[in-house]
Amino acid sequence: MAQTKRSLSGIRVTGRFHLGNYLGAGINYVRLQDEYESYIFVADYHTLTTKPNAHDFTDDLYDMVMDLIAIGIDPERTVLYRQSAIPKVAELTLLLAMVTPLSWVQRVPTFKEKVRDQPDNVNLGLFEYPVLQCADIVIVKGDVVPVGRDQAAHLELTREITRRFNRTYGEVFPEPQIVLNPDAPLVKGTDGKAKMSKSLKNIVGVTDEPEVIRKQVHSMVTDTKRVYKSQPGHPRSCNVCAFYKFFFDDWEHYWELCRKAEIGCNDKKKLLAERIIERFAPFRERRAGLTREYVDRVLDAGAERAQDVAGRTMVEVRQAVGLPPYRDR
Ligand code: ATP
Ligand code: MG
Repeated sequence: MAQTKRSLSGIRVTGRFHLGNYLGAGINYVRLQDEYESYIFVADYHTLTTKPNAHDFTDDLYDMVMDLIAIGIDPERTVLYRQSAIPKVAELTLLLAMVTPLSWVQRVPTFKEKVRDQPDNVNLGLFEYPVLQCADIVIVKGDVVPVGRDQAAHLELTREITRRFNRTYGEVFPEPQIVLNPDAPLVKGTDGKAKMSKSLKNIVGVTDEPEVIRKQVHSMVTDTKRVYKSQPGHPRSCNVCAFYKFFFDDWEHYWELCRKAEIGCNDKKKLLAERIIERFAPFRERRAGLTREYVDRVLDAGAERAQDVAGRTMVEVRQAVGLPPYRDR
């Protein structure tokens, strides 16, 4: 019987789960659980490129796992684990690096962005990030990868590295396909300019307390060409209006009110905030029932399953590359 195809994705522990994470990727994490053997990991190794001490993000890690379960990741159906639970992923990164030309990594745009965002900490790990990401995916032989469009360049690089590895050593890995949410491939942050990002602190949360969400929505930059409520608005270029498409079936009605100056920016923000709070109330409720002990059990079980799959891949990889088998496993 053919092997069920595998889906894999990861998320960093650099802040709270936000609308960009949910609309861009999270919706697909949940959807793909039905069709694929699914793997979701909290990317603690990747987080170290920004926050070098994992002790500092213990609380955030619990928050993130709880958020993932709250939005509908079912630990019975999805292998939910910490990236560092598979130390062999570091060995695979090293082996993939041998078939990755330097110039391929140099052209990745996210590296340049990170250099700009954290100029005091431009470490080699940051540079190697996309190779580790490739290892994350292929170590479980991922077929599909649900992510936001900000990850498209990394995914393309993963495919190139995978092809080159397979050409050099024989067909070991499937070539992973990106899965975007066509309705929300890239969500903008509250500044209306940059993509919504945990580390840029321009987020609107998903499971946060209503008060937090109200504040975040209220801080959103709106239509910069509209100074007074009596002036007609420009919904096409307004970020708040962009969110109406996700949260209101009759968004066109609100866009029209905005064009006719019958609704102001503040009113739109209030409505949007309440709608977001209402939509995600079931997530908040589910989350309230989760304990750290439960998260520990989920991550332990996930680590076991992920390690098993990764271990089998690495036996094959070492054989393909011509390295001796592991002495202990
Ligand atoms: P950081 O700022 O630390 O990079 P982030 O907010 O970008 O955090 P990640 O952990 O890097 O979040 O990404 C998790 C997933 O969410 C990825 O699949 C990524 O593509 C997706 N994602 C992140 N931000 C957005 C966004 N603004 N729009 C759509 N998808 C997004
Ligand atoms: Mg990111």
